[in-house]
This record gives sequence, C-alpha cells and structure tokens, in this order.
Amino acid sequence: MSHQALLPWMREQYEWQIAQIVKQRYSHANLYIGARASGTEELALAISRFLLCLAQPDARPCGECKSCILLQKDGHPDLHILKTEEGSTTIKIDAVRGVLHSISQTSQLGGAKVVLIMAPEEMNENSANALLKGLEEPSDNTFFLLVSYEPSRLLATIRSRCVSLSIAKPSRRQALDWLEQNGIRDAELMLTEAGGAPLIAAQWNRGQMFEQRQLILDSLQALVADSSALTKCAKDLSALDVKFLVEQLVSWVQNAVRVQSGGASFNEFDKHLARVDSRLIFDLYDQLLRKRRMLNSGSNPNSQLLLEELLLDLNLVLEAA
Ligand SMILES: [Zn+2]
Repeated sequence: MSHQALLPWMREQYEWQIAQIVKQRYSHANLYIGARASGTEELALAISRFLLCLAQPDARPCGECKSCILLQKDGHPDLHILKTEEGSTTIKIDAVRGVLHSISQTSQLGGAKVVLIMAPEEMNENSANALLKGLEEPSDNTFFLLVSYEPSRLLATIRSRCVSLSIAKPSRRQALDWLEQNGIRDAELMLTEAGGAPLIAAQWNRGQMFEQRQLILDSLQALVADSSALTKCAKDLSALDVKFLVEQLVSWVQNAVRVQSGGASFNEFDKHLARVDSRLIFDLYDQLLRKRRMLNSGSNPNSQLLLEELLLDLNLVLEAA
C-alpha cells in the first residue's frame, strides 16, 4: 500500500510512528490494538513498508529502491507474515520457528527485517512461547508488528514484551466521508449495520449487499411467522456467503440489545428478537461470535452445516419471543 492509499483516519498515527522510527524510538516489538476492519492491518503494513525501504527519503518509502519494488510485487524476503493458514485455527509452531530461523540470518536486502503477525491471539501456548524467545532476543534491525483485535486473549508475557499502540477507529463522520468518497451507496445504513467497521461496509457494497440483506430478512421473517419453515429458510440462505450472513446477524443481534434499552430498531427482525429474554440474546450472540471466529480463522468449516446450526439456534431463541 502506498502512502496515498493509507486510510485517512490513519494518517496521524502513521506520521507519528514514522517520526518515532526516524528518531530511532520505535520499539523492536509493537502490539497494534485496533478494531476489526477499520484499517489497523493496513497501517501496520504501511509501517512495515517504510521500515523495509532502503532509502527512506523525507520520511517516506521511496517507491524506487529494490525493497520498495519487491513490496509492490507482494514478495519480499525480509518481510515475514504470520497468520492462521487455510484449514487451521491456530498459528502453528513450525511457522513461528521458521520465521525465527529466517530472521536469525542476515537481512537479504541489507535493510531491516520485519515480522508482521496478524491475530497473534490465535497462537497456542507452544507457538506463543516460541515467539516469546524471538521477542526476548531480537536480532539486529528486526521489528515485530503484532496486529490484535482481542489482546485479552494474548499471553501476558507477550503483551509485556511489546509496546502497545492503541489504534483508534475512525469517527462516524470520518468513516462516512470515506465511504461516500468511494462511491458507496447508502453509506449510513451500511456503516451502521457493519457495526461501524468501514472496510466491512465497503466490502458489502462490492457484493450485492442490499439484495442479500433483503433475502436474509425475508427468510427470517418467514421463520418468525412459522418455525417449521426452517428447512426452506436454510435452502434459501445457502446461496449466500455465510460470512456475510454471520456479520449481518452479529450486527442485528447486537442491536436487539440496544432496542431493549430504548434504541432504534434496524428492521423487523431485531424488533422481534428484542422481545426475548436478554440472557437468551447474549447466548445467541456468543454462538455467533464463535462462528465468526471459526470463519475468520481460515479453518474453512462446512458452511452448510454451520448455517443449519445457526438457524437451529436462532429458531429456538425466536420461539421464546
Ligand atoms: Zn524504498
């Protein structure tokens, strides 16, 4: 990502961190704590690009050195990215060891070495302990950037080795301006339903979010009216991206809780759900978050099965209304 492509609400953070790097005050281990889909990963990537640039003229990546060119091609021997792999819910110890071995060697391009870890909370204890060694004995000119949305799930020893950087999410106005500048239709509603996460709203817009959203609402309405419509509902919704469905439900279930304390409803579904005992809503919410975690972990769960489970849970709660 070039500097121009940096999300506008990240600019100030970016400039501040670049200044720290230039003054040699940037830590070798940094924990970026941010909100999901609000630009934190992009910020960490932009900082990595600057760290790796071999020239760094005027506190900017030059865009022309060997390092900058390799980064534009998305392959750089001194940039190591650790994240959960497809088919797994954890960051494996072999992957961590592999990276630690690589950074124990001399930098390939003669510049910095960067380890970018997405969702480090998905490391099990063994992987986390392996990483800890790397954090405790950093090799020269090596930087670790950990991007976490759930830092409370991280080992305390890892947290304590890193400088924590709280990355603010955009204000509603900033997010709306950005969505509108990018030609997103009905930015207000999109952003609200995406739980305030602008990158999710933008992604929805590229798909046929409105049509799909309506299909979900119609199916759920049918289920509210007649709980035996479960099979038909599952069939209707099976054509959708289950991730999208889960994101929508997370947002509506969250809103049902707000409706209970006097907030405005988004649609008939959250209005109906708000009639249910709040303990049941929270249980449903927990289930949804678990499913979201599974989907985002890249573990590639069976989406038909996941959908059916989801609808069963949902149906039970709706029947209690
Ligand atoms: Zn460069």
